[in-house]
This record gives sequence, C-alpha cells and structure tokens, in this order.
Amino acid sequence: MVSGKKVYAYDLEFLEDGRTIELISIGIVCEDGREYYAVSSEMPEKRIRKHSWLMENVVPALPQRYGDARNQLPAKWLYDYHDPAVKRRDRIAFEVGEFLLSDGEPVLWADWGAYDHVALCQLWGTMMDLPSGMPMFTHDIEQAIEAVPGFEKPEQAHGVHNALEDARHNMAILRKLWAQA
Ligand SMILES: [Mg+2]
Repeated sequence: MVSGKKVYAYDLEFLEDGRTIELISIGIVCEDGREYYAVSSEMPEKRIRKHSWLMENVVPALPQRYGDARNQLPAKWLYDYHDPAVKRRDRIAFEVGEFLLSDGEPVLWADWGAYDHVALCQLWGTMMDLPSGMPMFTHDIEQAIEAVPGFEKPEQAHGVHNALEDARHNMAILRKLWAQA
C-alpha cells in the first residue's frame, strides 16, 4: 500500500494455557499474492489431545489424509506427520524470516492478533532476538474495523481454523476495508 512497504496478513493456531503460547501452525499471505504455511512438528501433542476445543476445531484443519490414503495414516497420528508443511520450529523461524523480510519492509496485520504477535515473535526467542527489520507490533483488523462505521465484516466461507485459510480471510477483510476507507 505504501511505497517500500508490503502488507502481510497472518494467523497462527496455538495452544495457550494462560502462561504460555505454543505454536501449532502458521499461515501468512502477502498483498502481492505470495503465501506461506507451516505446521510445527514440535507442537505439544499430549496437551493438545487433552484440549477438547483444539481437538474439535483446530486439529481437523491440520494436514490430514483423506479417502484411501487415510488407511495409510496411523490412527494415533494427530495429523499427517509426513506432510511437507510439517517442520521443526527453527526451520519455520528461518523460512518466516525469509518470507517477511526478503522484499521491502513488512507491515503485519492479524485479527484479534495480540496472541498471534507474541507467538510469531517467539519463533526467534525473546524480544531481543527478533530479526532486524521485523516489526515490533501487529496491526489489528478489529481496530481498523472500529474506524470504519457501518463496516460489515465478511464471513469466512470455508477452512475456519486452518491458519492459511484464516490468513487469506484476514487479507480479504483488509482489502474490503481499504476499498471502503
Ligand atoms: Mg485461526
């Protein structure tokens, strides 16, 4: 939108217990059409299995095998461990850094994004460990909606709680906001 800057809408799925925020998956969409999606192979599976909301809403939206391929997936697997999107956290941190920082200055947007921002930054460690050029804050779509009286937030048609689908939807909301602002 602004010269030299690029807007990125993102979404994370995570386990949070009031003390920690543990990454499950991350989806990012750039305004130029590039997309990134990854699932953490280090998500705390035991705790996720005990979390009924995550089991009902988030786990089904992780990479799963369907149809005949389903028979090849061990029943105890939470998701398809062999899916190419499944990566270690340090790999995800490297790739997200490349994705966000390789083309101009990133401007980050998320919806109800406070927890998303913390979990994103924790990919690299503490605040001190943030890669150079990484924004210290995420713009919140809810705040932008407040500034446009009468704005009707579009409904997400499908893929709710898949981080990439949620990120795509966030970008769709932003585009509608920009059109009306
Ligand atoms: Mg989501």
